[in-house]
Amino acid sequence: MKMNIAMIAHDKKKDELVQFAMAYQHVLKDHCLYATGTTGTRIAEATGLSVHRFQSGPLGGDQQIGAMIAENEMDMVLFFRDPLTAQPHEPDIMALIRLCDVYAIPLATNLGGAEIFIHGLERGDLNWRKLVHGKEEDQID
Ligand code: PGA
Repeated sequence: MKMNIAMIAHDKKKDELVQFAMAYQHVLKDHCLYATGTTGTRIAEATGLSVHRFQSGPLGGDQQIGAMIAENEMDMVLFFRDPLTAQPHEPDIMALIRLCDVYAIPLATNLGGAEIFIHGLERGDLNWRKLVHGKEEDQID
């Protein structure tokens, strides 16, 4: 079943997320990918995957992803945060995390969590989301 997956990486974590996307592109290719601007460009260039790119994070990209979560349209968020660098858009980051909690959207904030999530995704652990969306008609497996 096709899931909507958001990917965001702060600058010092972008290489890590790009490597993650390359390693798991065989999984990611079966899903709809969304990302903040620069992260999306980096992933698309490195993998050839099609990625819907929102604004860059500091320019509102987190809020655009948040808007999808608020519509309950996002199924998973992989957010490689940099905990050691102050971000100008910290309020947006907190808002995004909060919305994931409001809608019980799986949120990984680092590589360790993302590794678990991607295996769960491959295994169909996220298929409960079809109940949220009434997505049964999209089911292909
Ligand atoms: P970016 O945004 O992918 O456009 O860099 C992410 C961020 O740094 O918040």
